[in-house]
Amino acid sequence: MVCITSCLNTTGQVTAQKEETTTMKNKIIRTDAEWKKTLTPEQYRVLRTGGTECAFTGEYYKYKDNGVYICAGCGNEVFRSSKKFESGTGWPSFFEPVDKNCITEKRDTSHGMVRTEVLCSRCDGHLGHVFNDGPQPTGLRYCINSVSLAFKTIASSSKIETATFGSGCFWCSDAAFRMLEGVKSVEVGYMGGETRNPTYKEVCAGNSGHAEVSQVKFDPTSISYDKILDIFWKIHDPTSLNRQGADTGTQYRSAIFYHSPEQKAAAEKSRDELQKTMARKIVTEITPAAEFFKAEDYHQDYYNNNQQLPYCKAVVQPKIEKIKEHLNKAKAGK
Ligand SMILES: [Zn+2]
Repeated sequence: MVCITSCLNTTGQVTAQKEETTTMKNKIIRTDAEWKKTLTPEQYRVLRTGGTECAFTGEYYKYKDNGVYICAGCGNEVFRSSKKFESGTGWPSFFEPVDKNCITEKRDTSHGMVRTEVLCSRCDGHLGHVFNDGPQPTGLRYCINSVSLAFKTIASSSKIETATFGSGCFWCSDAAFRMLEGVKSVEVGYMGGETRNPTYKEVCAGNSGHAEVSQVKFDPTSISYDKILDIFWKIHDPTSLNRQGADTGTQYRSAIFYHSPEQKAAAEKSRDELQKTMARKIVTEITPAAEFFKAEDYHQDYYNNNQQLPYCKAVVQPKIEKIKEHLNKAKAGK
């Protein structure tokens, strides 16, 4: 990268527009005059005219706080602090964006070089460039202008979130959720019934009213609730009422137990989106989380501890393979 014009002081000017959501359906289109009103001159130069800030001058190249970097133009979440690394270039560097949809990549032949430009996919603001000399696991270096970014802090210790799902036999969902980066722990148990501290035997008899559930603790700075929902939908058939394969009974019902109004809204939205692609009606219950009763120890991480058992080989393993494939594809951005 080269420093094309002199740098202006932008300290204190980066004001994030946090209220805006990150869906690309709400594409932001403004005239140059409108952008000039909302951005500082340096933000305008970089974001709207493809400029580059001088190395070692930006606010974020040494920044280490835990949180999410958003586009300074529109508030779109573009990079996470967990994917940031010290490149020594003087620009904030990341090895992976928040997801494949939040940025757009474009061939750039300006200044006698062939590079790949990185733009915010929501407002088309210029963020920086991506190069092939980054660290593993991606080998990429997203070299981003500080001035194109603003930062949302997320206090790490207090911000572990909980999510609870019923999707048939809990051995399957337990194994699937454990594979996700950003998931801190998974426990299987029972929720949504009438009795307290039920045993597996009672739940299996189908009279306790409980669903077999996996309860996930996750770090929202590393993985979004939406991503976990995505795996939940993929691990089972949400159109099958009180049944998954050969497992029958209300304990095997498809259910999302939400822990916040935000989770409820996200769950309903993802269900409605998925319904558009399915011929049969989704029967998943979306209800407030109730008390979680942890299942017996031998059920925890059952698949990883019992991979050789016929049920695990026949029923759990194919689902896990499918999720693995899905995650690899997502990582490859396909
Ligand atoms: Zn943007």
